[in-house]
Amino acid sequence: MKSDILNVDNTPSLIKSVKTEYYQIPLAEVLSDAKHGDHTHFEVIVCKVLCQDGFEGVGYTYTGGKGGRAIYSLIEDELKPSLIGKDASRISQLWEEMTYHLHYVGRGGLLSFAISAVDIALWDIRCKRLGEPLWKVAGGHADRTRCYAGGIDLNFTQDKLLSNIQGYLDSGFKGVKIKVGKPDYREDVARVAAVRNLIGDDTIFMVDANYSLPVETAIRFAKAIEQYDIKWFEEPTLPDDYDGFARIAESTSIPLAMGENLHTVYEFNLAVQKSRLGFLQPDASNIGGITGWMKVANLAYINNLPICTHGMHELHVSLMSSQPHAGYMEVHSFPIDQYTIEKFTVDQNGNAVAPNVAGTGVEFDPALVGQYLIKQS
Ligand SMILES: [Mg+2]
Repeated sequence: MKSDILNVDNTPSLIKSVKTEYYQIPLAEVLSDAKHGDHTHFEVIVCKVLCQDGFEGVGYTYTGGKGGRAIYSLIEDELKPSLIGKDASRISQLWEEMTYHLHYVGRGGLLSFAISAVDIALWDIRCKRLGEPLWKVAGGHADRTRCYAGGIDLNFTQDKLLSNIQGYLDSGFKGVKIKVGKPDYREDVARVAAVRNLIGDDTIFMVDANYSLPVETAIRFAKAIEQYDIKWFEEPTLPDDYDGFARIAESTSIPLAMGENLHTVYEFNLAVQKSRLGFLQPDASNIGGITGWMKVANLAYINNLPICTHGMHELHVSLMSSQPHAGYMEVHSFPIDQYTIEKFTVDQNGNAVAPNVAGTGVEFDPALVGQYLIKQS
């Protein structure tokens, strides 16, 4: 129905069906970090929302290899029944309903992953109805963003670590991140020194302990690597130890970063208040999708913090590009982008380029992912 006053299309976009797909995609080699053990594959849970007017949105979330079946069930058995017949354009309303109808059993955690997949599909529909790419719909600040290659490389020998980093430089990246958290932190210090020596002074360099270190060890390690110009120290200790983060931050000149293990916007708020963070890293796959990511982006903005990301770079490239206070986007070692139709690209300046197609620009190619499908509705 056209409104005479506003001259906009107010036709509801009613949800006709929701389809869920669950994939297990093998990695080319085993990747390890300090806390999650070996990764042999990653899981992708795709949510397709089809509207009565013919628009279809594709959303998804991913895991490091565990929990995907439960996320599939949450979408299929718990969220889907309440979505059928609803107006897909009422994203905020649906987000609130998904969040609070299951809050008692699902505050954060797996539920945030499930909501993320649905929410991203709804944003995809919104963008397609507008005929605009996500980077414009989400803010439109720019069409590209700074990025870095995030290695999962703690199990690599130092030689292999360096050849892996050289591969990132050869691919055009201007920033790199390595895992730390060896049993003896002095080995981490030696690896950091070797990487800085390889990459030279002008390459951005971060380290990530995957919350593995006791606070005192993290402080000792941070002080030992200050001389190597580290952009940030990611998840030095347990993400729930907000005060521990603050103690580390007060003991080193290296800024701290976290976010991939904060799965509600309230956890991010608490972290900003208590943990003296230098960078926020929400992941749209587990913070409630694009809606949740944008709430954290606004939190970062009003606290004068750069907004960053974890994982799913093929989607985050559009969100990061859209924001004025974007920091550095992680190009993650789970190559989800290799299974999508639109290809992820980095320009000659090392910036990731947002897809210029209507929608999020992330749709999976059945010819590439089909063989990894475990179940679907
Ligand atoms: Mg990390």
